[in-house]
Amino acid sequence: MTRAQLLIGGEWTDSVTGRTAETVNPATGEVIGTFAEASPVDIAAAVDAGRAGFESNRWQSMSPDERGRILWRIADLVERHASELAALETMDQGQPTTVSTTVNVPLVAQTFRYYAGWATKLKGKLSPVSVPDQLTYQRRAPLGVCGLITPWNFPLAIAGWKLAPALATGNAVVLKPAEQTPLSTVRLVELVLEAGIPPGVVNLVTGGPDAGKALVAHPRVDMVSFTGSTAVGQEIVRTCSGTLKRVSLELGGKAPSIVAPDADMQMAVVGNLRGALFNTGQACGAFTRFFVHRSKAEEFVSRLATAADSLRIGPGSDPETVVGPLVSAEHLDRVASYVALGEQQGAVRINGGERVGGAFGRGFFYRPTVFADVTDDMTIARDEIFGPVMCVMPYDDLDEAVARANNTDYGLAAAIWTQDLRTAHTLAPRIRAGTVFVNQIPIIDPGAPWGGFGLSGWGREMGSYALDEFTETQSVFVNLS
Ligand code: NAD
Repeated sequence: MTRAQLLIGGEWTDSVTGRTAETVNPATGEVIGTFAEASPVDIAAAVDAGRAGFESNRWQSMSPDERGRILWRIADLVERHASELAALETMDQGQPTTVSTTVNVPLVAQTFRYYAGWATKLKGKLSPVSVPDQLTYQRRAPLGVCGLITPWNFPLAIAGWKLAPALATGNAVVLKPAEQTPLSTVRLVELVLEAGIPPGVVNLVTGGPDAGKALVAHPRVDMVSFTGSTAVGQEIVRTCSGTLKRVSLELGGKAPSIVAPDADMQMAVVGNLRGALFNTGQACGAFTRFFVHRSKAEEFVSRLATAADSLRIGPGSDPETVVGPLVSAEHLDRVASYVALGEQQGAVRINGGERVGGAFGRGFFYRPTVFADVTDDMTIARDEIFGPVMCVMPYDDLDEAVARANNTDYGLAAAIWTQDLRTAHTLAPRIRAGTVFVNQIPIIDPGAPWGGFGLSGWGREMGSYALDEFTETQSVFVNLS
């Protein structure tokens, strides 16, 4: 059983209150570890340690080359410990092994390597100004201490998306993983230390919403990078309105997927099913609203439901598992209540709609569920469910499909299925979403930005875009007269 502590100023420590909380394996409901619950006093100590780490001579005078080497070493260590990290993620999150071993852990290593390269390429600019005898240039300045707050669905990958660019740009951080899934992040931070990060530059605080609130509210935190629910993102913005500290938000989604009349039906069914059920539907970019041309809707529904029923349900540790457990009993209840609401509001449930019992009765398993005849006003078509629930919504022409796809407060991801290049390229720019996938399940790559429109958030992670999130631009005017 793991017993996780806080990392403050390079030292592992319990909370000053001595309080701990438990984390469970969602496949079995068993407690698999405890973690320290950071109090406001611990958070303040972590922020002070971050400030000292940021200002320390070792971090300030470290060459970009050496910073890059440390990030590269983290990537190497992640790869060396890949199976251990993937097993921890699967045990704590419930994530199918195929996802933790082939997507999550490799993406973390790739992200650190990608930003290792950026450490030596943070160029400034020389700006021609009209005042005589001036040399005017701009440099990128790190922000200081960044509070990084992550959710429970891809704990390791999302910690990497934040840590790697924050460190590449010379910041110090206080990282807070979600209370449901702290274990893989704790191990990642051990590897970060082993790679040679100076003490205080990376601090880790475990705990729940109160720890997150204390971190966000702390006046000496210069920036908050948050991934999680829209409601919490909005609260963070309200809290930061006093200090105007920088906020980057990766929030919820309700991705539409438009199946054009000419789409390859087999590809569309398989791709949409994978896009919907990736990580058991617990993915912010998951496809959830399927706009299918009326002439094909019945066939699509029937093939989608049949394919969903054939998927192997089981613990993430079984390599054959496609649909794992939901992260917690609370989340299972939430998904089940959305399904009940869908039926009450008149959607036609084709399959699923129940918890999996028998050998899996102690875990938090829920059967993939397809709804037909979903209308735009139904709650299941509007709210982010974050589980294996799919809504099929027939349309009559593509203009209508685009308008209805955009009829959402979210705007994180979207998909288009067509064999016509013209349809693909004319529809993609009309959809209000940070990323549009054409004939493609949702994927994330460190080279391409990720983030949303509307209630899906502010800013972009990944690519060169994340460097802007973690730096300020400073101008220097030098009088040469
Ligand atoms: P959540 O908002 O409940 O919690 C996320 C993190 O915030 C956790 O670490 C939690 O402890 C902390 N937290 C909770 N309340 C807080 C508060 N008031 N102040 C500061 N921190 C607080 O989200 P969740 O349930 O863990 O994750 C699921 C959500 O995350 C979904 O909405 C999903 O769409 C979103 N998500 C978005 C992306 C993206 O890239 N856009 C990626 C993954 C998940």
